[in-house]
Order: sequence, then structure tokens, then C-alpha cells
Amino acid sequence: MHYCQECPEPSVMTPDRHGAACPTCGHIDPVAARQPVFVVAGASGSGKSTILPHLLAELAGVAVVFDCDWLIDPLGGEKGIAGVDWAAFRDAWLHVAHGVAQNGLPTVLLGPFIPAHLDELPGRRWVTDVHYVVLDCPDDERRHRIEARPPWRSRDIEDQVLFGQRLRDNLPDSVDTSCGSPAESAHQVAIIIRRHLDG
Ligand SMILES: [Zn+2]
Repeated sequence: MHYCQECPEPSVMTPDRHGAACPTCGHIDPVAARQPVFVVAGASGSGKSTILPHLLAELAGVAVVFDCDWLIDPLGGEKGIAGVDWAAFRDAWLHVAHGVAQNGLPTVLLGPFIPAHLDELPGRRWVTDVHYVVLDCPDDERRHRIEARPPWRSRDIEDQVLFGQRLRDNLPDSVDTSCGSPAESAHQVAIIIRRHLDG
């Protein structure tokens, strides 16, 4: 969030082609560049963690890549994941992306976000387009992958299968991680991201 440094009372600035503009006094803050965000979405078992190192390598210097789980511990506090305010969690990531944009790069977020999760958040106006790439796999493959995890990981298998189906049915860009190695899947995701950036 940008607040005007010229106004005597707190005034929330709005995006402007020159940066952030104060609606009260017209002051412009030029350090408010905006960039697109790419959400690599997938239900549990899609392969988000598996492709991460390969996606980092594919997009080095092109985009800054984050695994959204990295903010669960600091935002969950003593209650862990049960303590996370998910709207604040998602908004924090949009604000991180806005900060990355000041360094001249778009942001890639690996996390289970859908458009309805982000569109109404305060941070949404401080990024440009949000593109979604679904990491997918066949339902039985997802069940198998979740069952193979360590016992301390969650086992909400059928919820995750349904969420995976919902993503598959509603978002156009997808990569099936059962069709190739993690490196090949990351390469396919990077192709989609580069296509949007070039287009
Ligand atoms: Zn002002």
C-alpha cells in the first residue's frame, strides 16, 4: 500500500501510469512499478515442490519464483497452518510481487490460488495481469502421490482430487506433470510464462 508523503492526513494512493498517484493532492510516487504475476496453481500432489528447482533454473533472470508455503510458518505463528489468515497470506504475496516489480521483474507464485482468491484483495491493484498455469495430473496419480508422502503431511486426498478437477475445468493453461520428468514439466511451465511475457 502506498500512502502520500505530502498530505497531512493518511491518503491511500492509486496506481497511475507514472507510479502511484495521490487522489487528494495529485502527488506522484514514482517507485510503484507494476509487473504481471504468474500463479503456478495445483492441488496437493500436482508436483509444485518437485518442479521448483527446475523452474528456478528455467526462469533465472526472467522472473522471481516463490513457493507460497514459505510464508505459512511466519504468518501462522504458534498455531502453525491453523493460525494462517488466508486472505492476508495471499495479499502478502501480492505485496511481495509489487516489491519484486520495483526490481524490474515479474513474480511467479507456486501456490493453490484461484482468481476468486486474489481479485478482491488490496494488493491486486499493485500488479498488472495475473496469469494462471495449472499443474495437473490424473486423479489416481494424485491419490498415489499424496499417499506416498511422509505420515506428518495432510491426507485430505479426495478434497485435493476435487480441487484439482475444479482447476482443470476452469483455467486454460495447464501442464500434466505425469507426462514427463520434473525438468520437462518445469520447461513447459516456463514456455507458457515466456509466451505471456513476450506477448
Ligand atoms: Zn497527497
